Amino acid sequence: MPELPEVETVMRGLAPSMEGAVIAKAQINRPDLRWPFPDRMSERLTGQRVERLRRRSKYILADLASGETLLIHLGMSGRMLVSGDPLGQFVHDHPQAEKHDHVVLDMDNGARITFNDPRRFGAMDLLDTATAEDSKLLAVLGPEPLGNQFSENYLTAAFKGKNTPVKSALLDQGIIAGLGNIYVCETLHRAGISPKRKAGQIAGRKVATLVPIIREVLSDAIEAGGSSLKDFRSAGGELGYFQHRFDVYDREGAPCKRDGCDGVVARIVQSGRSSFYCPRCQR
Ligand SMILES: [Zn+2]
Repeated sequence: MPELPEVETVMRGLAPSMEGAVIAKAQINRPDLRWPFPDRMSERLTGQRVERLRRRSKYILADLASGETLLIHLGMSGRMLVSGDPLGQFVHDHPQAEKHDHVVLDMDNGARITFNDPRRFGAMDLLDTATAEDSKLLAVLGPEPLGNQFSENYLTAAFKGKNTPVKSALLDQGIIAGLGNIYVCETLHRAGISPKRKAGQIAGRKVATLVPIIREVLSDAIEAGGSSLKDFRSAGGELGYFQHRFDVYDREGAPCKRDGCDGVVARIVQSGRSSFYCPRCQR
């Protein structure tokens, strides 16, 4: 499942083909994904210039000249493919249409953007750009972990008195937007905090250390995603999934990577999801 760094990578990969270009044709191949598509979606997209792409949590937002914003969520299995040769940056022939190509956008620069999603947990919607942040999906989100509103003071206050495990608190999208299971495991390992600790019982000083660590973990992953974009030419035009080495995630039974720690990575299940951690150095 794509997390914030993967979504950021997809957005950066789409930008050269979409920003400043006009959607010449919008082909919508079914009435819905996770939710119904908005009314007259094809008409509302066709002829619109994409003014800019941005990201909020795990949503890609494309602001259109019409004053509407196309919201894109990849869900569990959504993929964005870019074909064509916009700006001579890469050459991917338009592939044969596949069964799960639900939305196909032909840009006036020759790029074709295809949204393919076999499991259909993804979503697309059209919002008023001016009030997009107040929409149902976005209004409930906490601050962006890489943004200015996310600070030591903010997180310390958010954790105060919280009786839930720190793992759940960090996954709570109302506290921080866009963190998922993988990067929460990595963050807690780097911070030396057990995922089982109650959020409200961690010393304020220790909570504060989570802020730069979260930023570092996400930035490292975004950098790895950026490197994957350099190989985009040979990657068949598919965006968003890249090889990234994790310190604890999916490493049950393997030695802890912290210098001087001889612990072994363990896996426990919390709220139905796997937590990977080192019981020796994460307290
Ligand atoms: Zn360890």
